[in-house]
Amino acid sequence: MPTIKKIKKIGILCSGGDSPGMNAAIRAVVRTAIYNNFQVFAIMRGYTGMIENDIVELNSRSVANIIQRGGTILKTARSKDFLTKAGRKIAYENLKKHGIDSLIILGGDGSFRGAEAFSREFDIPCIGLPGTIDKDIAGTDFTIGFDTAVNTAVQCIDKIRDTMESHDRLFIIEVMGRDAGYIALHSGIATGAENILIPEAKTNIDDVVKSLLEKEKRKKLVNLIVVAEGDDFGGALEVEKYILKKMPTAEVRVCILGHIQRGGSPTCLDRLIASRMGYHAVECLMKGPHNVFVGIMNNKMNYIPLKDAVKNKQKIDKDWLKIVKILSS
Ligand code: ADP
Repeated sequence: MPTIKKIKKIGILCSGGDSPGMNAAIRAVVRTAIYNNFQVFAIMRGYTGMIENDIVELNSRSVANIIQRGGTILKTARSKDFLTKAGRKIAYENLKKHGIDSLIILGGDGSFRGAEAFSREFDIPCIGLPGTIDKDIAGTDFTIGFDTAVNTAVQCIDKIRDTMESHDRLFIIEVMGRDAGYIALHSGIATGAENILIPEAKTNIDDVVKSLLEKEKRKKLVNLIVVAEGDDFGGALEVEKYILKKMPTAEVRVCILGHIQRGGSPTCLDRLIASRMGYHAVECLMKGPHNVFVGIMNNKMNYIPLKDAVKNKQKIDKDWLKIVKILSS
């Protein structure tokens, strides 16, 4: 059994894109750490704040009344300087000034790669918490923020459906997901979409047009296409352009949901997983394993080495797409 480095002072930061539930995770980390007699420091604006020494101590009250708030009280950023060894060295010197001897990082796979490089170079144990609305990290069934984002998308699509039904229109709705189609798939199934276009499955746009023409013959004029922003054919505007070329008289409208999906009060599920993961991140610093990120698989905690953190490129089960087809007929 490798000996676990004794820690006293934990730094916590958010990095990359924000996601609802990050505050719940910060709260869980701070309170668990203080319960176990550690000091906790907020590193503001991710790795940027680490390099610029934007670091302040937190107490239990610092995280009062934040569990229900979207975004992150620590702010988040992307840092080019942290990609360089020189930048990381400055960050390390700043941690030393505060006596910070361990880190908890909320972010996506990019942030975890940064943490892994840092832990290797400076012997600072790092624990990652998967905070991303895209649910695109391998090794965890949940990421902090996905459930809120997908529920926001569902609420928006439900509202748009009222207009679709009233006017017999085809709506193409673009949801977030540059590399992953989970938001599109989940929100599309939950709102009865006729077609769901995602990066994980090759889009045959002529098949989409064929199905619309066939539905037109059956006088089914209300149709919903949900497309992930990173679909291989293109986003909602490209899909609209192609459909109008083939069906010039179709009543088509496009709605790009955009950043609305990132914000808002986290759902109960996001608050729960964030609280659970935050608690276990501190446990990991105390008892090991170190240099892992905390996931949940089959309702059990799962610890994945930071060096193995990768975007989830798994193929979406064909059953899902079959379900979409059958249920929307
Ligand atoms: P996400 O964590 O959401 O995937 P990014 O990929 O933008 O977001 O990564 C966030 C930050 O993590 C980057 O701005 C950079 O500072 C740091 N980072 C990413 N990859 C590396 C790397 N290979 N080495 C060091 N730092 C990295």
